Amino acid sequence: MNKMEENEKKIDRKDFFKEGPLSLLRAFFEGSQNEDTTIQKSSLDGPILRPPGAKTEVDFLNLCEGSGLCAEACPANAILLLPEESDTSRFTPRIIPSDSACVLCDDLSCMKSCPTGALTIIDIRKISIGIAKVEKETCIAWNGKDKSCKACATHCPVGKDAIEIVTESEEIGPIITQGCVGCGLCEHHCPVYPKAVQIFPNE
Ligand code: SF4
Ligand code: SF4
Repeated sequence: MNKMEENEKKIDRKDFFKEGPLSLLRAFFEGSQNEDTTIQKSSLDGPILRPPGAKTEVDFLNLCEGSGLCAEACPANAILLLPEESDTSRFTPRIIPSDSACVLCDDLSCMKSCPTGALTIIDIRKISIGIAKVEKETCIAWNGKDKSCKACATHCPVGKDAIEIVTESEEIGPIITQGCVGCGLCEHHCPVYPKAVQIFPNE
């Protein structure tokens, strides 16, 4: 088994957390993430996703001082800072999965780096950045344009507990299941634009 095949091997949720996601995934995601931390204006239109361990939005905005230490600590360059003019909430950190997704690093680097408690250290199994939703009309598997597409499921670090490829009548495509942690790797790797799977904040 070559290195790529090794990294792409499916791991179940138990093994994922047991083996430590960063050690399994870092090599795979190297080079696949956008290292440019400049937020494109068009990217600001999407839902606001905070880094893992973030307090509720109101508390988060009260506590975050916009130091950017979490962004500096992120090994995947997944945390970007909102430009000042975009928000009254100063340079607050945000994840835009289509640019760079959270890799659920086993160092929990961003949470540990936050000096104000806006991000708190939580168990990696309790991370919930948001929830993925699949748009069946634009998904090329569901709409039949490319029934073989399963990039989202292939790149999900959680596996079948979070996303499954299912068949319904003559159709086939992904559905999101209860173990989704909102990391955004499915959105990042979806080949469709606008993305057919996107992460939305928890309600
Ligand atoms: S956001 Fe996507 S890749 Fe991440 S756990 Fe949920 S379904 Fe899997
Ligand atoms: S990667 Fe995107 S287009 Fe492909 S099956 Fe997943 S949601 Fe559909």
